[in-house]
Amino acid sequence: MSDPLNDPAPIAANLARVRDSIAEACLRANRDPASVTLIAVSKTNPQAAVLAALAATQTVFGENRVQEAQQKFPSLRADHPALRLHLIGALQTNKARDAVRVADVIESLDRPKLAAALAEAMAKEGRRPGLLVQVNIGDEPQKAGIPTAEADAFIRACLDDHGLPVEGLMCIPPVEGDPRPHFAAMREMAARHGLKTLSMGMSGDYQAAIAEGATHVRIGTAIFGAR
Ligand SMILES: *Cc1c(COP(=O)(O)O)cnc(C)c1O
Repeated sequence: MSDPLNDPAPIAANLARVRDSIAEACLRANRDPASVTLIAVSKTNPQAAVLAALAATQTVFGENRVQEAQQKFPSLRADHPALRLHLIGALQTNKARDAVRVADVIESLDRPKLAAALAEAMAKEGRRPGLLVQVNIGDEPQKAGIPTAEADAFIRACLDDHGLPVEGLMCIPPVEGDPRPHFAAMREMAARHGLKTLSMGMSGDYQAAIAEGATHVRIGTAIFGAR
């Protein structure tokens, strides 16, 4: 196994490749490459891998678990003030306060109980990370995210009832089939609510997501290697 501390070259090369490919997808879609933010998903990778990516000018990272984020990221902030951490994994209500403390953006707001917990945590912490509502865009029973039939009302409740800083939407489309109709439905839902951020697209489908308006793509494997 390669050691990112002793040899950061593979991560830098992978990042360069992914950035080129994002720029190409933007060109094909007639979009400005600066309108797409790359989130480097570092989950399960050591802090040395994050340092290698930082050295290659990557500043935005994604983690699934609050505890792993706490172990890897706060100690990096002093030396890397531009660092931005997105939490992208399922979030338990009893972790809301830790999440609010560690994250710059929480992408997995997907149920009323969590909305209430995050509102309370933000009030207590005096800190307001941006939020994305996670939509179960394929309405898959095993998957996290608010069901599509409830999404519009839930987004309104987060904004109006809880006063939460909802900036946009996030989804993980079904593995099978063409993701593009799902990405397009996400874009339309965001537009209905005047939301600007669309976090969609992973290592396997980010070009399609960019074609349908993704503002953030979450890429792990193509940067850090197979987990
Ligand atoms: C792990 C993960 C990713 C990155 O997936 P890759 O296929 O490794 O690019 C993106 N989004 C979420 C929510 C994830 O859990």
